[in-house]
Amino acid sequence: MTRVFMATLATETNTFASFPTDLADFRSRLWAEEGAEAVAPSAGTAPVRHWLKRARALGWEVVEGLHARAAPSGTTTRAAYEFMRDRILADLRAAGPVDAVLLYLHGAMVAEGYDDCESDLVTRIREITGPATRIGVELDLHANLDQPLLDAADVVVMFKAYPHTDYVDRAEDLFRLIERCLAGEIDPVMALFDCRVMGIFPCTRPGPMVEFTQAMFDAEGRDGILSLSLNHGFPWTDVPIAGARMLAVADGDRAVAERAAREFGERFYDCRAEAALPFTPFDAAMAEARIKGDKPLLLADIADQVGSGAPGDTTHVLRALLEAGISNAAVVPLWDPAAVAICFKAGTGARLHMRIGGKHEPFSGPPLDAETEIGLLVRDAEQPQIGGDRTGLGDIAVVHVAGIEVLLTSKRCNIYLPEMFAQFGISIADKQVIAIKNLYKHTDVFAPLVRKQLYVAAPGTSNPNWHELPFRRLARPIWPLDPDPLGRDGRTA
Ligand SMILES: [Zn+2]
Repeated sequence: MTRVFMATLATETNTFASFPTDLADFRSRLWAEEGAEAVAPSAGTAPVRHWLKRARALGWEVVEGLHARAAPSGTTTRAAYEFMRDRILADLRAAGPVDAVLLYLHGAMVAEGYDDCESDLVTRIREITGPATRIGVELDLHANLDQPLLDAADVVVMFKAYPHTDYVDRAEDLFRLIERCLAGEIDPVMALFDCRVMGIFPCTRPGPMVEFTQAMFDAEGRDGILSLSLNHGFPWTDVPIAGARMLAVADGDRAVAERAAREFGERFYDCRAEAALPFTPFDAAMAEARIKGDKPLLLADIADQVGSGAPGDTTHVLRALLEAGISNAAVVPLWDPAAVAICFKAGTGARLHMRIGGKHEPFSGPPLDAETEIGLLVRDAEQPQIGGDRTGLGDIAVVHVAGIEVLLTSKRCNIYLPEMFAQFGISIADKQVIAIKNLYKHTDVFAPLVRKQLYVAAPGTSNPNWHELPFRRLARPIWPLDPDPLGRDGRTA
């Protein structure tokens, strides 16, 4: 009988965030131990649930190791990483010989002493399994991807869609490739091309990424190409391996993989400037916010989005709205467990002079002190994600500050869908401005509801103006810090 081992270890490390990620951060987000049977529907488990369903349908025996995931944040502590890594390795040893290993990793995890946790983990897994076991790894496209991981794994498949709507589809791609390996149908070899590019490259924005992504799909399954993945890279990790890299998986022929990785990597490089998400300076965004339109203006506070590892507690946008006298607005969400606890003590309807946000690290900036009326209070709230997962918000409090509705949460969280407003009684249609702490993932679902969306470079940990960040360890040259690292700009005109 075919035996397969599955485990999850996922977080995305913003090395500019000063607050560390420890075991408690994993335990509070996703922590399912061996024998947990199907991992409960929660953040980031959909690929594993898909693999479980597929493996069982084929009559395979599944052994599950640890599944652990934390929200993106600062560098993981050495003790936390080594504990989880060693736990997965012990689970694998206890499982005995397996035919395949399927791992769901994020791919941008940095721990104290480890720039590339995924390579470290998978290399150690390979040492245990020996060469015959087939190892498949699924990664987010915002990863740091380096050769040691490719040396240790048989197949790596990354998300192709940003916003990430395809993690179950890519889980299926990986499963199918591993299934074909086990059947002796294919023998994957992988090649990587370093694009020397850093940035944010949405795949649904009109522009070259739509076509580029489709071209990857079109090339798969032809001319010996099994799989193509563009690693967009995670641009708030100051490690030498950060940046965009093109991955090609070919059947048995390394030259085919290398050629495809270079071809697609150069094609991406040539459209990098057009593909990158443009951001709006803070002042320009606030000038636009003063204009009343027939629908709300959406301000996406890129620099404080939890998905990039920022705390999610800055008050810069809220304060600017107050200073501009814009009261018909909503700010969703803002992380402040202490303020939420105070709201629960005071109760709905209470009026307090309260201190909001601006607490968790130097980039958080100052807190906001304001007259506040407490509205809705909900314990253990959740929100739906785009791909069908659900994410816990902890306790939430809706407070009113000079007319502005602010959703305070006790857990750090992103916003995925407009339901985040509606489920807590905050209307969108009648607002002049809605401000969220996000990068791009919300864009398509909010598009029909707003007159315009601006990606705002307010101050914060995940500042999208790379020139303002104190990079020290990043390998140079890299665009946009350096204008033309591959020396191709003149050639393609
Ligand atoms: Zn991502």
